[in-house]
Amino acid sequence: MPDHNHYQTQEIILRCSRCGKPITPSEAIQTPTGYRCSDCVRQQQKIFDTSRPQDYVLGFIIAVLLSLLGSWLTSLIGFFTVLLAPAAGVGIAEAVRLVTKKRRSKRLFRLIRLGIILGGLPIPVLILFNLLFSRGAGAFSLFSLLPLGYQILYLVMAVPSAYYRLSGSQR
Ligand SMILES: [Zn+2]
Repeated sequence: MPDHNHYQTQEIILRCSRCGKPITPSEAIQTPTGYRCSDCVRQQQKIFDTSRPQDYVLGFIIAVLLSLLGSWLTSLIGFFTVLLAPAAGVGIAEAVRLVTKKRRSKRLFRLIRLGIILGGLPIPVLILFNLLFSRGAGAFSLFSLLPLGYQILYLVMAVPSAYYRLSGSQR
């Protein structure tokens, strides 16, 4: 049995919409402009990935430190976190764009997002430990939970704000 016969009749049903190469359904990657082979998709992604290794290190450190600063400010201003958090997210994104010279990649943006989350965690964790261990159960009121709420609010607002600033401001 000649193997290529089977290959041609059974598996090749699709063609890459960019280079026209025959592709099997399992290889085909669906894009908005039709099915593409993995080579074409990879090439397309390279155009959008301008990041360098140092961007990951510098960007991550900046994101963690600035997010920690934002989280600390949150603990000072309480309710006004509603106003600060989105601006803090944009500020962190702009600082990252500065140190990474506006180079970009999806992986870099995801790492920055992780950095902002990590930077925003120490203070709420401290608050939580403080609530759980250094007070009696009687002191556990809605009011004592407010600082924790503001910290969560900070993360929930700053993280997407920074991420969209980074990934959206492309052109
Ligand atoms: Zn192709």
